[in-house]
Formats: sequence, structure tokens, C-alpha cells
Amino acid sequence: MQEHVDLFVIGAGSGGVRAARMSAQYGAKVAIAEEYRIGGTCVIRGCVPKKFMVYASAYGQGFEEAKGYGWQADNVRFDWKALIAAKDMEIDRLSGIYRRNLGNAGVEMFEERAELAGPDTVRLVPSGRIIKCDKILIATGGTPRALGFAGEEHTITSNEVFHLPEIPNHIVINGGGYIACEFASIFAGLGVKTCLIYRRDLVLRGFDDDVRTHAHNELIRQGVQVITHANIDAVKKTDAGLAVHLDTGVILDCDQVMMATGRVPATDGLGLDAAGVNTARGGAVMVDDFGQTNVPSVFAVGDVTDRISLTPVAIREGAAFADSEFGGRRHSFDHKDVASAVFTQPPVGSVGLSEHEAREKYGQIDIYKSSFRPMRHTVSGSAEKYMMKLVVRTEDQVMVGVHLITDAAPEIIQVAAIAVKAGLTKAEWDETCAVHPTAAEELVLMREKFVPPPLEDGEAV
Ligand code: NDP
Repeated sequence: MQEHVDLFVIGAGSGGVRAARMSAQYGAKVAIAEEYRIGGTCVIRGCVPKKFMVYASAYGQGFEEAKGYGWQADNVRFDWKALIAAKDMEIDRLSGIYRRNLGNAGVEMFEERAELAGPDTVRLVPSGRIIKCDKILIATGGTPRALGFAGEEHTITSNEVFHLPEIPNHIVINGGGYIACEFASIFAGLGVKTCLIYRRDLVLRGFDDDVRTHAHNELIRQGVQVITHANIDAVKKTDAGLAVHLDTGVILDCDQVMMATGRVPATDGLGLDAAGVNTARGGAVMVDDFGQTNVPSVFAVGDVTDRISLTPVAIREGAAFADSEFGGRRHSFDHKDVASAVFTQPPVGSVGLSEHEAREKYGQIDIYKSSFRPMRHTVSGSAEKYMMKLVVRTEDQVMVGVHLITDAAPEIIQVAAIAVKAGLTKAEWDETCAVHPTAAEELVLMREKFVPPPLEDGEAV
């Protein structure tokens, strides 16, 4: 007899697992398939192992700074293999928890690939099992974008970087987004000679321009060699390692090349055609606010939909799907004012509109910004600088954007996001008494509006 479930989830990452568990807890008969490891990109080869590497790399700078405070920190050594082993153990533990939670919720797990064979049918590969389902949820996430240059097979991506047997001596990283900046910072912090190749002028396109400038300069301060306006033409094997040929004519010798040039929705060979599901250019599954595709029985959440590719967003989309379809509470996730962090050193925290976006949307805005050497570094001797910027809508003084680069930016921005989401005004922020001495107190102490310097004769507006 053919198997039948109420819901079949394809992909056991953050969004898929949340949707599967909650739907099962609402009483649905649920199955989930995962072709790699239960937990998905975030847990297995993304946010979680990356954060361990961020912690590890921060000690490099920390040992240096400690000297300013009287510590003797000479002859410290870093053991890559020890880090990888400790990280792997924790990832195994977390994957186990995900597996147990699915099992406890009564979700049936298939550890193989699943493809759509129709709007109500899933085929498992390689077993060939066919499962009929009332609803299908696609939660397959994304996969690194390949650029197709000669020798790309000699490069690694964020899929492989967590499993390198040895720490590189010299790594070249291509890209200027989240992954490229984070890994440039990680490897530089671990003492690796690090070079970042980016095709434009300033990293972190899409972030506020002041954030981009500051983050860019901080990478350089950290010792990253940043080469802008350049692309990789080819990577060739040499006796000493790898040679990276840039389109500028420059050739870089290194022993690892990491591609961090974006991720694409993982829909290749998924059978979307067989089910009649519409995709956008680039392969993303097209969905409405409720995650529903043009085929009423097929839904999608997370990176595969290419809306906001962040774990907590996938989780909220998965939860909204389960509530709406099986919990009797129809609602959708609001994608406005989602905060995010880039775990460089110092890290970035950002929520709401950039100055540029706010000007385009509202015309008149007020800017408050501050760049300063934190108290900690007056004694540590580090040249690291922090940056804080508030974007305020002039008309009603509502805070529409907060952008930070400080050691605690990812933590602070979580709280700032509550205030921005709640639509608080600058005056309401300012009523809040400062916590002293902190870097964050600057957020409630900025009183002087930023006035751009007068334009020089002939300078464009
Ligand atoms: P991003 O989209 O952040 O950055 C991609 C980078 O690759 C950009 O700098 C882009 O340049 C460049 N690029 C794209 N295509 C090419 C090309 N053909 N040639 C050269 N360069 C190219 O992607 P990531 O891979 O860094 O990360 C993927 C997603 O994962 C992120 O968007 C984010 O949503 C998520 N993520 C979140 C993290 C966090 O929350 N801390 C951490 C890691 C990932 P350009 O700017 O010119 O477009």
C-alpha cells in the first residue's frame, strides 16, 4: 500500500525542522527528508560552526590586547585540529538534538534525497519510495554559487572550510558579503595571511555606506589585504600550492582559495517542473506571504525562496506555515525590520533602513553618528574603532535604522531591533538613561545631528 502523510517536508534545516515539528505537534502526520545531515546549513556548516571559529579567532587579538593590561601572553600557539575536533563534537551533539526533537514530535525521518514527482507526490532517492502527501513544504535552503572559471575545482566554499585538515598559510577569499568578510576576519584573527578579492569598491553592499566604509577599513586594520575592483579569472595548481590569476593581471600565490560569492536556492533536480511549481530567475521558489506557491498543495520557506536568507527568518516562516496550515491560526511572518549581524572583528549589527534607503523612502531624515576608540583600547593599545549610526525620519522623529560596529554589536542590535520594530522616536530613546561606562551608552547620548560638510566647488550632490 502506498504511504500517505499530511505533510512532507523536504530539507531538515532550520525552517524545515521547525515546520515539521510544529505541524506534528498540531496533530498532523508528518515526514521529513534530508540528504546531508539533520540540522541543515546553519547547524552543520553555517552559523554555528562559524561562530565557534569567530570565538577562536578573537583570542588572537585578545592575547595581543591583554599585554596592555599587564598580561604576559608570549609564545601562545593555536591548534587548528583541536578547534575542528571540538567544533565537530558540538555539531554532532546539536544534530542529535534536532534528530531527537523530530522523533519526539512523531515526525518520520528519511535520510535520503526527496524530489517532487507531482503536486501531491514525493519520490525518495535512491530508495525509489513514493509517498503521497496532502501538502509538501520545500525547505532545501541554498548552495554556494559557482562562477565557472578555469580551475574552480581547486577552490573551497563554506561547505568545505569547516573540514580543512590543516590551517592554511595563505588564503585568498573571493567575495565581499557576509561569508567573505566573516572568514577574512576569522583567518586573519587566527594568524593566517589573508587576502580578500572583491569586484566592487567597498565590502558589504546593501548595508549602510558608513558601515561599509568602517567594516572595510577594519578588515584592513586587522591585516587583511583587500583587493578591490578585481575578479578571479583562473586558479592554477603550482608546485607550491595555488596561483590565483586576477582579471587585473595580478597573480597571487596561496594554498587555499575560498569562494564566498553568494548562495543560490537549492532547487536543481528537485522536480519543481513535474509539480508545476513556478520559480524565479536563479531558481528560487516563488511564494506568497504565506509561503504558498502557485500550486496550492506546495509551500516553501527559508533560503530556497530567496527573500531574506537568515536562519531566524526561516524558522519564523516555518512556524507561520505550521500555525496557518495545521494550527488553525493563519498568519504570515513580517519581513520588515529584521536585524542581522556580520561576525567580523569588530562585528556589525544592523536593523532597519540605511541612510540611503531612508532618504529614498522618506526624503527628509536626520542622521546621528559617532566613530570612536572604545575605552578598552585606550589601554589595550589596539587601533580598533567602533561606529554607531542612527537614522531618524525627520517628520515624526521615528528611528528607522540603527547601524553599529562594536564588539557587542550583534547583542546590542537585538535589543535595538525591538525599539525600531516598535516604532519608538529618537526622543523616547533619549529618555532612556545611559549605562556607564559602556560603548552602548552612546546610543542614547547622541544629540548632535550630523551635518554633512559643505560641498567643494564643482562637487556633485
Ligand atoms: P552575499 O550575498 O552576502 O555576498 C555575496 C558576495 O559575492 C557579494 O560581495 C557579491 O558581490 C559577490 N558576488 C556575487 N556574484 C559574484 C560574481 N559573479 N563574481 C564575483 N563576485 C560575486 O552572500 P554570502 O555568500 O556571503 O552569504 C550568503 C547569504 O547567507 C547571505 O546573503 C546571508 O543572507 C547569509 N549569511 C548570513 C550570515 C549572518 O547572518 N551573519 C553569515 C553568512 C551568511 P556584490 O556585492 O557586487 O553583489
